[in-house]
Amino acid sequence: APPHARMDPGGNVRVVVRVRAFLPREINRNAECLIRMDPVSQLTTLMVPGDADQGNARARTRKVTEEKSFTFDNSFWSHDPADEHYATQEDVYDSLGEEFLDHNFEGYHTCIFAYGQTGSGKSYTMMGTPDQPGLIPRTCEDLFERIAAAQEETPNISYNVRVSYFEVYNEHVRDLLVPVVPNQPPYYLKIRESPTEGPYVKDLTEVPVRNIDEILRHMHVGDSSRTTASTKMNDTSSRSHAVFTIMLKQIHHDLETDETTERSSRIRLVDLAGSERAKSTEATGQRLREGSNINKSLTTLGRVIAALSDPKQQQQTPTHARSRSRPINKSNTVVPYRDSILTWLLKDSLGGNSKTAMIACIAPSDYEETLSTLRYADQAK
Ligand code: ADP
Repeated sequence: APPHARMDPGGNVRVVVRVRAFLPREINRNAECLIRMDPVSQLTTLMVPGDADQGNARARTRKVTEEKSFTFDNSFWSHDPADEHYATQEDVYDSLGEEFLDHNFEGYHTCIFAYGQTGSGKSYTMMGTPDQPGLIPRTCEDLFERIAAAQEETPNISYNVRVSYFEVYNEHVRDLLVPVVPNQPPYYLKIRESPTEGPYVKDLTEVPVRNIDEILRHMHVGDSSRTTASTKMNDTSSRSHAVFTIMLKQIHHDLETDETTERSSRIRLVDLAGSERAKSTEATGQRLREGSNINKSLTTLGRVIAALSDPKQQQQTPTHARSRSRPINKSNTVVPYRDSILTWLLKDSLGGNSKTAMIACIAPSDYEETLSTLRYADQAK
């Protein structure tokens, strides 16, 4: 199969991996690339750091002697632009984003997560740069192009698009589309459960949007409001999970019967907190609490996705269970949505007829963090 062919449409869970290019600081310290990807088999191999790379001293003292290999649904080699197998932002969209948007137009929910340590390429993959737009702007562009084309062909269908943007920080939900009031404590929203819609964030701002520019403007407002704090690792690194949601409503007007029917779908695009925070050793107090909450939500998310990708999982888990009982798959493992705020709030987009993707982002020359990310992704698939 060609390396970035559209993935096998079977199954509703995808786990993929993407390795980024060297950053200037890595070039300066003469870092070596520890990742190999086989474009045919999709095998990703993490090699043992050699003595030349001082940055991996810790890995060496732990006597790492073996290389480790993993297979995912797709592997994106975004390390060396000169390589013929280099995966561009467009390749990532074509192999994943487009298929998910098809699913949304059929009336189902989708959810894409970017997982990885700070600096591994999560926001590059989701948001990208003005020159190299990522999954979110490409999804928005494609969405409005499809709507424009459909309005020509089928004028009896009308479309309504709204967006929301919230972050989950320390198991609290904060609306990113509401301006932060200086010198005021952050205002957290409450979580409710509707018998028909499942869990939701009460009073969350949802804004109607008519084009990509309006969407991106709201995104930027939200991004500047996202909780960040200086830490040892990186001054602007993120310690919250950012959930961007596009709600697509298709209203079908039957001209013969004069009846209208609606199809609603949610497109969730999630930039997760840096995975290194889950095990930060130098943290105390507030940082420590953050770390353990991040750990809890990332671990729960991994377990939820693993339960959903279990082939024994019932295909038709109701998206919104009527009772408070948890959906149970055939191998009798409970899908632990309730164990973290993040998975509980995304329950509608995880399981049932929804499609879920996890993009494991890795840096090219960090043995320990990369091994931990690859193991996490491996357990989720
Ligand atoms: P994260 O969101 O995981 O903290 P970023 O997306 O901010 O990481 O990426 C860290 C840096 O690496 C940024 O400067 C970004 O532009 C760059 N980068 C990430 N992925 C790629 C890639 N595939 N190709 C080129 N540069 C990348």
